[in-house]
Amino acid sequence: MQKVEFVSATEDADDCPPPDGLPEVAVIGRSNVGKSSLLNLLTKGKSGALVSSKPGTTQHINHYLVAKKWWIVDLPGYGFAKASKESTEMWDRFTKEYFTTRSNLAGVLLLIDASIPPMEKDLEYADWLITHNVPFTIVHTKCDRNKPGMPAVDTNIDELRRILDEKWHRLPSMISTSSVSHDGREDVLKFISSI
Ligand code: GDP
Repeated sequence: MQKVEFVSATEDADDCPPPDGLPEVAVIGRSNVGKSSLLNLLTKGKSGALVSSKPGTTQHINHYLVAKKWWIVDLPGYGFAKASKESTEMWDRFTKEYFTTRSNLAGVLLLIDASIPPMEKDLEYADWLITHNVPFTIVHTKCDRNKPGMPAVDTNIDELRRILDEKWHRLPSMISTSSVSHDGREDVLKFISSI
């Protein structure tokens, strides 16, 4: 990946850089899902600003311009257990407003931790995106990880497929990744260039 420039951090969908005709890919997931690690993997650490932040503290829509050709948009993690009800509601309002109003949004990467069984919050978020016709792909993170006492990665992914299929009778595309083994990096980049 070529040059990655940090352009803006905004608290409101209305304050994002004006849509400039360049496509935008937004990345979303629960706090601690491995979003910072994946973004660093995708950009090969080329953007110093893409570092892990304390969960629940960054409530910004962060815009990064890649090779002056497309945008990566880092949205704050959802479902942080210690976040107040007020900040959760604010988060919900501004990220969802972003999804429904952003004219140059080409697609969303919904990150889901494959080392644990699907969580209610992830399913709720997938449901919301489907209901609002926001195009998204599920990127499974931590696929290298066999967490003690947890079902295997494949079992967790199958379970997520089963739940989504049962409810919606269709499945979004899915990509398996690991920021430890670097598996899936090329698949995600290929997918992004396809959209
Ligand atoms: P964020 O809060 O979503 O930005 O998550 P981070 O990228 O900060 O990662 C949260 C934790 O998960 C950190 O301890 C990471 O080292 C770990 N982690 C992230 N990605 C992976 C992965 O692919 N495999 C494994 N085993 N651990 C990961």
